[in-house]
Amino acid sequence: MSLPKDGLPAEQVLDEIRALRTADHPTHGGRLFAYVYDPGLDGLDDLAMAAYALSAHVNGLDPTAFPSLLAMENALVGAAAGLLGGGPATVGNVTSGGTESLMLAVKAARDAHPEIERPRLVAPVTAHAAFAKAAHYLGVALDLVPVSASALRPAPEDVAAAIGSDTVLVACSAPSYAHGVVDPVAGIAAVAAAAGVRCHVDACFGGWTLPYLRRLGVQVPPFDLSVPGVTSISVDLHKYAYTPKGVSVLLHRDAELRRPQYFAYAGWPGYTMVNPVISSTRSGGPIAAAYAVLRHLGDSGYLALTAKTLEAVRELAAAVSRVDGLRLVAAPESTVVCFTADLFDVFVLADELAARGWHTQPQFAYADVPASIHLSVTASVAPRVAEFGPDLAAAAEAARAAGPVALPEVSLDVPLPELLGALGFGDGIPERMAPVNALLNAVPPDVREALLVDFLGYLQRPAL
Ligand SMILES: *Cc1c(COP(=O)(O)O)cnc(C)c1O
Repeated sequence: MSLPKDGLPAEQVLDEIRALRTADHPTHGGRLFAYVYDPGLDGLDDLAMAAYALSAHVNGLDPTAFPSLLAMENALVGAAAGLLGGGPATVGNVTSGGTESLMLAVKAARDAHPEIERPRLVAPVTAHAAFAKAAHYLGVALDLVPVSASALRPAPEDVAAAIGSDTVLVACSAPSYAHGVVDPVAGIAAVAAAAGVRCHVDACFGGWTLPYLRRLGVQVPPFDLSVPGVTSISVDLHKYAYTPKGVSVLLHRDAELRRPQYFAYAGWPGYTMVNPVISSTRSGGPIAAAYAVLRHLGDSGYLALTAKTLEAVRELAAAVSRVDGLRLVAAPESTVVCFTADLFDVFVLADELAARGWHTQPQFAYADVPASIHLSVTASVAPRVAEFGPDLAAAAEAARAAGPVALPEVSLDVPLPELLGALGFGDGIPERMAPVNALLNAVPPDVREALLVDFLGYLQRPAL
């Protein structure tokens, strides 16, 4: 846009944003199973936004200038350490999200070994894509450990076999994002320790629910800093701690392990820069909002929210099992329900669910793991969950009647606007995504990456 010549009234610009927001998926109401984490509690947003506003202009660049932020960050780290088996030596930092937490775990591991010229990271293929991003950004080679389609978690022996003399870090998930499966952390950490290699547990998704699920009687294997050999762990507060976006915690077993996470630079005429995280200037807003949400909900609040979530997970899984032709990809161990369709097209099913107001996350096939529908289940789903079963059955019936979607007959070699037109993107995102998903599912991963990069690049252009 060009700036308006004279500024507009506050209410008018807020109206503009409200109008833009009507195109978005609903962030509240328990019918969106990805991207947002909604506790379904009245008033919590207002509290978080009030706290955010109090600290939005505070800068985390220098904790000595703004001790309030240091105090709140240390409080969040302490709460995470308390939940995740930390001890007196545990240290940590607040980062902007799971991706940054994982990047910093990889950076710390890499920089702890300046003598290793070509550092390598060992991770199961089910580990979050952010590890691949970290490896790419940091010049670390990625050694992926395969999983079977039935287990969806690596065997510790296979992890051991992938560790070499240049390995600086072994990663695992508690649980994996795609299927909600908890890796055998104790076995993996043991083989890493035996090789003298760091072990990071990515508990970005489940770190705030697994401890409560255990207290609710769910069998949760040991996965946190109480496990010997685990050297760091990450948990996203902007997921199941239900804080506004922009808050994750990275914990290290001790300060020595954390030290190479820092970046310091005194070789310029300005202030000496010392950063624990990727950003330098960072807003106090997300940290203050998270502090307020954690203090307001408290331990009993999270236990109650996890109990509601567990109830919703069980009902959703039961609803899937009741429909002929649908199958859980993994028995739910955490707060993910992931299912596939054996007798009809899973992408058509996703469209049919969307037509009934349920927004799910389709996942493409990978090796012999089938394409699936992913549900990240939050507490807000519980009051709506009884409506899901009948809608799922009806959506499955419709998908069965429609038959498998035909692959669109398009050439991928035409200019992107032409391809998008052929795929029905003339007036924005098409209502039916199954043909596009079928195409993306059919092409090799590198082609899919290139197509989607071009697509995002096409969307992300300046508005005039
Ligand atoms: C969400 C997630 C991440 C990435 O976190 P962002 O906050 O999206 O950067 C990493 N690992 C797991 C297991 C996750 O669920």
